[in-house]
Amino acid sequence: MSLLRLSFLVLLLIMCGNVRALSIAVDDNFTHQQIGLGVEFLVDSDGKLTADSVAQHPDWQVSTVTALNFGFSTAVYWIRFAIHNTGNQPIDLMIESRFPFLDRIDFTLQSNHAPPQHYAVGDTLPYSSRPVRHSHVLVPLQIAAQDNVHLLLRVQSTSAIQIPLTLWEKQTFAEQDHVRSTYFGLLYGLVLSIGLYHLLIFLSVRESAFLYYALLNFCLTGTFMSLQGLPSVFLGDLGLLINDKILLLMMSGCGTFASLFTLEVLQMQAIRPRLARALRIIVYAAILMAVLTFLLPYALLIRIMVLLTMASVIVNLLAHISRFLDGYPPARYILLAVLAAASGIGITLLEKVALLPNNWVTDSAVYAGIVAMTLLFSFALSYRMNMDRQLREDAQAELIASQQQTNDNLDRMVRERTEALELANAQLQEASNTDALTGLRNRRHFNDAFELEFKCAFREKTPLSLLLLDIDHFKQINDRYGHPFGDVCLVQAAQVIRSQIRRPPDVAARYGGEEFAVLLPNTHAEGARHIATAICQRLSENVIADGTVEVSITASIGVVSLKPGPEDSTESLLKQVDALLYRAKENGRNRVEWQA
Ligand code: GH3
Ligand code: MG
Ligand code: MG
Repeated sequence: MSLLRLSFLVLLLIMCGNVRALSIAVDDNFTHQQIGLGVEFLVDSDGKLTADSVAQHPDWQVSTVTALNFGFSTAVYWIRFAIHNTGNQPIDLMIESRFPFLDRIDFTLQSNHAPPQHYAVGDTLPYSSRPVRHSHVLVPLQIAAQDNVHLLLRVQSTSAIQIPLTLWEKQTFAEQDHVRSTYFGLLYGLVLSIGLYHLLIFLSVRESAFLYYALLNFCLTGTFMSLQGLPSVFLGDLGLLINDKILLLMMSGCGTFASLFTLEVLQMQAIRPRLARALRIIVYAAILMAVLTFLLPYALLIRIMVLLTMASVIVNLLAHISRFLDGYPPARYILLAVLAAASGIGITLLEKVALLPNNWVTDSAVYAGIVAMTLLFSFALSYRMNMDRQLREDAQAELIASQQQTNDNLDRMVRERTEALELANAQLQEASNTDALTGLRNRRHFNDAFELEFKCAFREKTPLSLLLLDIDHFKQINDRYGHPFGDVCLVQAAQVIRSQIRRPPDVAARYGGEEFAVLLPNTHAEGARHIATAICQRLSENVIADGTVEVSITASIGVVSLKPGPEDSTESLLKQVDALLYRAKENGRNRVEWQA
């Protein structure tokens, strides 16, 4: 192959622009070759020339590019070259033009031994009239051994005039076409199914970003298929007729949904309102283009569409970069996606300028790049949705935590209040059971405790002792030293009584005035007498001093001890002890009296 190409270059150099038809040599080993470099072309500005009149025309030029591309032009282009079968077998060949938008190509094949053959192919002619029904323009030809065929092409179109011609050996063509079709089928299937999948997601979650993404996928697939001329394969003549409209609609859709997708996923409106406005302008323009598709000629619209697509790419790219610089994580994946698309476009462009070999991989790298882009878009989309979910979850967790905090605070407050209340209650209870002056239990508590212990002693048949103590001549102390000093004496007397009581169930109480009662559960008479005597003695020994006054007081104590029987009661017991106290007073005070 490269040898062949080299020989052509040498041939070209030799000819140096001479008006002589390029001849492509093919033999039994021939597979394929691009037709572009070295072919002759003639620009027929008003399209008035005929096949006969071009033959001797002086303006034929030699092409220096591998793929003929004359851009947008209303002129008619004539191309000519020859094919020479240098082999010893007849050879079946196929001429392919991959650009499906040319209005009309007229092929004239002139061999030495057969009458000239003529084929007219293009998107203004019926699909069914094509020599080979294929989305690309295909013209078959057979060349006998050692024979020549001269080809003359007349190309006319309102769209861009690209004529990427390839000469194929017929079987090689069938083989590569099978690979290529399968490859593109996979690409389209992939993008379409991802689109469908996201459409279903949209229907269930109602997030518009999913819809834009799904529609972008559909429009990308539509654009690819239209560029490959595939509508004619599925729709026949009609498909061929409306393919240019399909292309415009699909490209409008790509611009619309790519921009809407960028707006939504990168949250442009909130952070970058100026770029958001530019993106919306692209969207409106693309929608307008879609409407105009049905009103204005394709030749005009496709030029505007190319400009709009470029503007759309630039504005979207600016949006991606700005959001990437903002540090917005989904923008990373979007930029990566754009990079993938750019790589694909780059590879195909390098192939177009002959810096990379021409094969279906380099030729379709642009499609693969765009498919990779749309896949990565999906990643950016799910990343963005995940971010939203995370934010929602965080907010929810925060709410729950703050509710928990509030509940905890409330619990703590209630607990504190309850504790304070309980304490106050206990204090109140304590106060209601306590004598304010001496701090001993008061008469009410004593009565309750006495009642309880009495029943207990009765039930368990345990001894119960009761002391009743009255301070001697206390009236005199009050009279002599004053009432406040009397109070001091009462406090001191209470301290002495308390100091002699050690067991927890024992109760010492102020019974009234200067009288005290001591209840001693589970205590025999002997123990009770001992305590009473000790109190009596300690009291008499205790000196009460207040400023200049120093006084000792004495007390008389009555003691009863018994195991309560059914005939006994608290009242009878109190009567007995009171009588014994009276006896102690009678017998001279400062003494203890008990039952014999
Ligand atoms: P006796 O030896 O016979 O018991 O003589 P007494 O003076 O103690 O007899 P009485 O029962 O007549 O006097 C009790 C006095 O105790 C009367 C009252 O002034 C005094 N008193 C009663 N309660 C208090 C008190 O809370 N504070 C003071 N300072 N004196 C009180
Ligand atoms: Mg008294
Ligand atoms: Mg007294």
